[in-house]
Amino acid sequence: MSPQRSQLADTLHRLDGKSYGNYKQITGQYTFGPVTLIVDRVQVDPFASPSKVRVRVSRADAGFPADLTTGRLDRIAASDYLLRVGNGVIRRDHGRSINLGRPGQEVLERTNVIIDDDGFEARLLVNLPARGRRILGHQAADTVTRDVIDLARAMFLYDNIDGQALADHVQLLRDQTELRDRLGEDDLVGFVGNGALLPRRSGDSDRPMDAAAAVPFRSPASLERTFDLTSGRQVTGMAIPRGVTVIVGGGYHGKSTILRALERGVYPHVAGDGREWVITEPTATAIRAEDGRAVTGDDISPFINNLPSGTDTRFFSTTNASGSTSQAANLVEAVEASAHSLLIDEDTSATNFMIRDERMRALIPADREPITPFVDRVRPLFGERGVSTVLVAGGSSAFFEVADLVIAMNAYVPADVTQQAHELVGVTPDQLAIESSDAGPDVFGDPPPRIPTADALHPAGKTKTAKAKGLDLIQFGKSFIDLAAVSQLVDPEQTNGIAESLEYMARIFDGKVSVVEALAEIEAMLDAQGIDGLTGHRRHPGHVARPRAQEMAAALNRYRGLSLIPE
Ligand code: ADP
Ligand code: MG
Repeated sequence: MSPQRSQLADTLHRLDGKSYGNYKQITGQYTFGPVTLIVDRVQVDPFASPSKVRVRVSRADAGFPADLTTGRLDRIAASDYLLRVGNGVIRRDHGRSINLGRPGQEVLERTNVIIDDDGFEARLLVNLPARGRRILGHQAADTVTRDVIDLARAMFLYDNIDGQALADHVQLLRDQTELRDRLGEDDLVGFVGNGALLPRRSGDSDRPMDAAAAVPFRSPASLERTFDLTSGRQVTGMAIPRGVTVIVGGGYHGKSTILRALERGVYPHVAGDGREWVITEPTATAIRAEDGRAVTGDDISPFINNLPSGTDTRFFSTTNASGSTSQAANLVEAVEASAHSLLIDEDTSATNFMIRDERMRALIPADREPITPFVDRVRPLFGERGVSTVLVAGGSSAFFEVADLVIAMNAYVPADVTQQAHELVGVTPDQLAIESSDAGPDVFGDPPPRIPTADALHPAGKTKTAKAKGLDLIQFGKSFIDLAAVSQLVDPEQTNGIAESLEYMARIFDGKVSVVEALAEIEAMLDAQGIDGLTGHRRHPGHVARPRAQEMAAALNRYRGLSLIPE
């Protein structure tokens, strides 16, 4: 025990054995050398959500090089690095009582660790210890006045961290981001670096497969591109251009694995992940069938028309969509949410949404088939709306005629088989160009904006704010929003962010603002204010990661209580 015990430690020792509610006396701000400890909110009982505690160190005391902690992107990277340092300390020293939020393989903007102009701050969730409902004061003193302070020193005093590792982490994010920006400039939608390890360890682990077992990625020569980044780093790999790309190949040859890696390529990855150089344009959106979902006022008429019920598919709603209608809804919603490219896997698609073969077209006349399959729409989608598609189709040649690029996976190694595929169906690149520029009247047109009613997100009986329940579920009022099919949601803290974004949208929607405008407003706010701007809390916002607009839209669109202004 230190001879000069802090005032806070004194208080906690004194509270030992008292009833749990007395903990709230420690709310306040304390100084421990360079570390400022702020107890924002104390849990009411041992089983309530944990207490909210922040630790801060000023820039001067922290002593970090300014060039790694000034730019917006650098701050995100450095915060992520320090969050990982903090987690290492917590795992090693004090398992359950201190929670800083655990990042996965992606680097996300989060509230957990913030670097601002004044200094460094970590937002902790701390379980204050109890026996029954009595305060364990001596133990609490150790946790709060020793462990938490040690943690802050380990993260925020530059002398205690590995400066080179920090610099490398920051540089990696800069380089990945530069490459993602370059994709857009060069009319590419995706890039897979040579040597990338795409497969994951298992269905429930996002860590890379053992390097001994995984076949490293290697680009076909015809698609290979080298990027010279401003850092001096050179990255070579397979470039996927805008347009329609089809991935074919035998079962189990790695088609879905590359598509999934591209889905994740919208996010930066940490060193050692294997997907550091799998880079996808930032709005790329995975589209799948999702029967059972609710749909509110979507224009799915490019795909579905003349339903036997007579339902108007330009403003289509259902509480229980079929495989094909759900996939159509997912697609038009992604386009509405500004996706410039779509990622589609046969494994998770409705066959009747994707294709219809010639004999079926002969047997069932077009006017008795409500569905226009995606194969007939993929080129107008590109020609009219500029939306590219990367599609896995191992079971049908139907897409050869509409593909700009056909990639065949063979034992996890891709080959460019575009020419062969085009020869098989007798199509030339010129014909494709004509088809996407002049396909007659616009089928995708410009659907009228979807405008939620002013009370769309204020359901009667909603007393609590939206709350994420793990990765896949949000409780909103009395209903639940199921996000299990939203595959690019990767971290439960993003789901927290989506829950916050729904509350934010509730304040925006007034019966005049459209879904698209609300998303743009939130994005602009996030760019200007950072992730803290999303939460109403001014002090300790909990652990929230920034979601993409596409995933915020996905949650809004799946909300069963959504109501729109009629057309
Ligand atoms: P497909 O979609 O072509 O049927 P998948 O992508 O599902 O094939 O891959 C089949 C299996 O091969 C999966 O278990 C996956 O982890 C594994 N796999 C994929 N890519 C590689 C690779 N590059 N090296 C080793 N194993 C791989
Ligand atoms: Mg597959």
